[in-house]
Amino acid sequence: EKKETVSLSEFFEEILSFLYPSFVDEDVDVSTNIDSTLTVFVYRNQLKQVIMNILLNSIEAVKEKEKPRRINIDVSLMDGKIAIMISNNGPMIPSEAIHAIFEPFFTTKKLGTGIGLYVCKKIIEDHGGQITCSSNQHVTSFMISLPSSN
Ligand code: ADP
Ligand code: MG
Repeated sequence: EKKETVSLSEFFEEILSFLYPSFVDEDVDVSTNIDSTLTVFVYRNQLKQVIMNILLNSIEAVKEKEKPRRINIDVSLMDGKIAIMISNNGPMIPSEAIHAIFEPFFTTKKLGTGIGLYVCKKIIEDHGGQITCSSNQHVTSFMISLPSSN
């Protein structure tokens, strides 16, 4: 696979239409706020794996709390970098766990592998970016920063 220029609005449209049946099944409201001019130069399938991982984790998270279940995706340019923020209103990640979630094999799920976020971090860092997480009682957010190719 070669790196390519990817339009983030088209990219998210593709992923969200693929996941649409899961959002309907699980009664999750998804909202997006994506600057349609923004592009990144990436290994498309790798970035897809990252976003899918985070969205699937988010669906599992919101299922643990009372409705309404919400996921928000925000893509913008911040300080010359692409900022992708994926938030959900599921349970708070305890502060002692938040440092561990990107470690390999850290999982709180019965059938989890703990590999997903570790791979996400590796892929994003391989692209010259960063991934972080913040969480409180109201919202859990994953922030990805990537070099812009605009
Ligand atoms: P897995 O999904 O197999 O458990 P991950 O690496 O994808 O492995 O995630 C590691 C852990 O991070 C999860 O088990 C969960 O405890 C926590 N986590 C990840 N995403 C979220 C989220 N959106 N909300 C709450 N906790 C999360
Ligand atoms: Mg996972």
